[in-house]
Amino acid sequence: MAKVRKVLVVGGGIAGLTLAVALRRRGIGVDVVEIQPRWNVLGVGISLTGQTLRALKSIDLIDPCVAVSFGFDRIVFADATGREFGALNLPKLCGPDYPATVAIARSALHDVLIRTAQQLGAIVRLGATVTGLDRVPDSVDATFSDQSRGSYDAVIGCDGFHSTVRKLAFGDVPDASFTGLAVWRATMPRLPEVQSMQMFYGPHTKAGVNPHSREEMFLFLVQPITSGERLAPERMHILLSEQLADFSGPVMEHARAHITDPAKVDYRPMNAFLLPRPWHRGSIAVIGDAAHTTTPHLATGAGIAIEDAVVLAEMLADDGPVPETLERFAERRVSRCRLVVDTAVQLGEMEKDKSIPIQAHFDLMGSTFRKLAEPI
Ligand SMILES: Cc1cc2nc3c(=O)[nH]c(=O)nc-3n(C[C@H](O)[C@H](O)[C@H](O)COP(=O)(O)OP(=O)(O)OC[C@H]3O[C@@H](n4cnc5c(N)ncnc54)[C@H](O)[C@@H]3O)c2cc1C
Repeated sequence: MAKVRKVLVVGGGIAGLTLAVALRRRGIGVDVVEIQPRWNVLGVGISLTGQTLRALKSIDLIDPCVAVSFGFDRIVFADATGREFGALNLPKLCGPDYPATVAIARSALHDVLIRTAQQLGAIVRLGATVTGLDRVPDSVDATFSDQSRGSYDAVIGCDGFHSTVRKLAFGDVPDASFTGLAVWRATMPRLPEVQSMQMFYGPHTKAGVNPHSREEMFLFLVQPITSGERLAPERMHILLSEQLADFSGPVMEHARAHITDPAKVDYRPMNAFLLPRPWHRGSIAVIGDAAHTTTPHLATGAGIAIEDAVVLAEMLADDGPVPETLERFAERRVSRCRLVVDTAVQLGEMEKDKSIPIQAHFDLMGSTFRKLAEPI
């Protein structure tokens, strides 16, 4: 029988809902509080690489995710005219019956996670958050935004980059560093020939497409910027089309023709952050983007959040004092998360420096994916 009987998960994003599933699979009670009054998951897609699928497989989530995604085994590289000049073959870490990687709509991933968490008995409250966390011997007393209270064996902040739990537990921590890059994304109908992720290296920016269902794909474009300023919402489609002016060929022509609705264009300046250890105070800890935020260059930010959740549930289910478990958890996770954050930032820097041969990008990506394929 696990010593940990009840955990409060703050944040119902990818990390929080995966943790809820993983804890329930081990018989641990879970309350989830999500600050949004209703689910509002952006309709853009996301990649789940081999090691992420492996983590999902370990908590029986791989089949429902693969069923609503688009699988592929390589990334194709092309120049700004669409001429292919290379490919990176991705390892099939989950065996021959599963694709090496999938892309999935964020809303589809979220539907799988919330449905499974609730079917397994996690209690999910929307429009709620924590306003106070008091550490008492062997537990944490939480006060919620509706003035209700609860007592938990552990409280895990899965509340993203601007984490409230991190602030309540640690006070001020070092700021995230602005990477000087922004990412544009837009969803559009999939071209039949887009069977895997394709990246297009232009003179100033890198663009790409990723099929996340039989019907749809998303476009992404990484742009060097000087400040993290927000742009005029009503002009987003025009601004993204301007960014695509360097690119030609059928895929990019198709993309340009479908960027017509400013509301369907997502634009984000990119930050990177790794919380120095410890990642806990007593029985309160943070995981996912609350502990480490990365750029999408390795498509692995959600991947390491999912791995955090799987590893943490496994460790909490083992008998032992929670603060010590949380200490060992961060010890086990930090170097892998640092590898992802630092390498993603390095790839971004390499993209800004046009004197670096593209082959060096592939080599770094390939060697990092090989390291990430090692067991967690
Ligand atoms: C442009 C872009 C592309 C990306 N592409 C990929 C990709 O292809 N593959 C990949 O693996 N990763 C990708 N990532 C990274 C990935 O999106 C994040 O790492 C992942 O979403 C982190 O999940 P999380 O649950 O930790 O945090 P979040 O997704 O930020 O979720 C936090 C949740 O907590 C809730 N919340 C916030 N504050 C509170 C509070 N006080 N109380 C209660 N709830 C709260 C929020 O509403 C939200 O639901 C990408 C990121 C970006 C920006």
